[in-house]
Amino acid sequence: LRSGVNDYISKPVIEEELWVRARNLILNRQLQRRIETQQKHLEALATTDQLTGLYNRHYLMDIGPRRISEARRHHFALSLVVVDVDKFKDVNDVHGHSTGDEVLKEVGNLLEQSCRNEDVAARFGGEEFVLILPHCRLEDAIGKAEKLRVTLSELMPAGLKLTASFGVSTLNLAGNENFGTLFDAADKAVYAAKEAGRNCVKKAA
Ligand code: GH3
Ligand code: MG
Ligand code: MG
Repeated sequence: LRSGVNDYISKPVIEEELWVRARNLILNRQLQRRIETQQKHLEALATTDQLTGLYNRHYLMDIGPRRISEARRHHFALSLVVVDVDKFKDVNDVHGHSTGDEVLKEVGNLLEQSCRNEDVAARFGGEEFVLILPHCRLEDAIGKAEKLRVTLSELMPAGLKLTASFGVSTLNLAGNENFGTLFDAADKAVYAAKEAGRNCVKKAA
């Protein structure tokens, strides 16, 4: 048993015992499989935003710092893009919450589609989204945000004209900022984009 066998029977074999033991082993295995499936399902549920299917804030706060230490350790560029939909409150007020939800789903879908496999696209909350872009320098991240801005302005989610403001920050490999400061920098840049009239991309100061 210590070497790893599941069970054993002694000879002479009692047929009923053999059947019962075999059946128990099969049931155990089935139960184990069910637990594994449920666990995967729960993990997905805990890290996913239910409305858009993107990663949620909880996952972002877990993966963000880890991605930053990875970039530091292996010396590769990493940029962050914060996206805030413009005047989203008006969408809800004029067209109702379910239209608002539909809009968010389509925006989430666009962000997901536009990201590489190794990128992280998350819904941070309400109508704010975050992209973690590894191996992406500031200029590339600005270019990507600019492309997204144009695509989003032509998307017409739920048939509505929609724009968003973008803030971009990048990791200074020699500095000592963490995920929080990198996020704050991109978030501030979003405010600057709002100040500048919305529907534009700003980089962190
Ligand atoms: P700004 O251009 O300055 O960003 O204006 P805004 O209206 O987008 O920003 P504000 O923060 O004032 O409003 C965000 C709105 O997002 C308010 C809230 O009701 C709505 N919202 C947040 N979460 C959800 C959601 O899950 N579904 C829907 N339909 N609306 C949401
Ligand atoms: Mg907002
Ligand atoms: Mg907004």
